[in-house]
Amino acid sequence: MTVAIGIDLGGTELRAAVVGADGGVLAHARTATAALEGPEAVIAQMADLVGRIAPGHAVIGVGIGSPGPLDAAAGVVVQASTLHGWDDVPLAALAEARLGLPVRIDNDANVAALAEWRFGAGRGLRHMVYVTVSTGIGGGVIIDGKLLHGRGSLAAEIGHMAITDTPIRCSCGALGCWEALAAGPALGQRATETGCWGPVTARDVSRLAEAGDATAARLLAEEARWLGIGFANLLHLYAPEMIVVGGGVSECLPAMRADIEAVIRRQAMPAYRDVPIVAAALGHRAGVIGAALLALP
Ligand SMILES: [Zn+2]
Repeated sequence: MTVAIGIDLGGTELRAAVVGADGGVLAHARTATAALEGPEAVIAQMADLVGRIAPGHAVIGVGIGSPGPLDAAAGVVVQASTLHGWDDVPLAALAEARLGLPVRIDNDANVAALAEWRFGAGRGLRHMVYVTVSTGIGGGVIIDGKLLHGRGSLAAEIGHMAITDTPIRCSCGALGCWEALAAGPALGQRATETGCWGPVTARDVSRLAEAGDATAARLLAEEARWLGIGFANLLHLYAPEMIVVGGGVSECLPAMRADIEAVIRRQAMPAYRDVPIVAAALGHRAGVIGAALLALP
């Protein structure tokens, strides 16, 4: 069977898997990313993981999902804020030289979008938007059956669309970005500021709401409002058949669904309102499966 290796380069964990053309994971390995040691050290880690999982498989190539921004066509990581010393790194060329296999790269949200589209929640669609809501908000857009890249692969930085003039500073330096309002840390901070529990995270809020806490439920409703405003923008911009939501905060989707849908009914024009908002199906595996898809026919 034709197989490729998918590598998910994260700021904390480096994962690699042998993936078949049917999306099945045949072997996998992972290690803590040497995030402070520079690109050469991390590429050596990749070679070590590939050496552990590749034997016995007819591997045709390697795909790497990396933090961005990155230029997928050029194979260059422009900047990876979670990795020390990763500025203008020709990752595809360096990894090819080290691994002896063809290597393609794309950003981590794009490869997760590819995986959810081909083998996950968005199977069979032609138009889909993938949104990951965790420590930040990222996205990947499938339009007309193709991943949207734009100039320098910079398309779909959806976390940085401004959705309010509330003076809340984003990690990118701008004010009022969707990520600054709706990513996990924003929910955690709003919860902490209530003074009800001491320092709490988005996950804590979710658990408290599930246990019937009224303040936590109100915080989730506010989170749903910010998410819903962003989703309505994505519906108007990209006209997807489905919005697929991954990342840690997506675990709260069932509890927020009614509020999100109410915002979309209010914010989106009628033709866009019936688009399903669906939880991602592949979890952590989306990273390696989508990366492998870069190298599969
Ligand atoms: Zn921003």
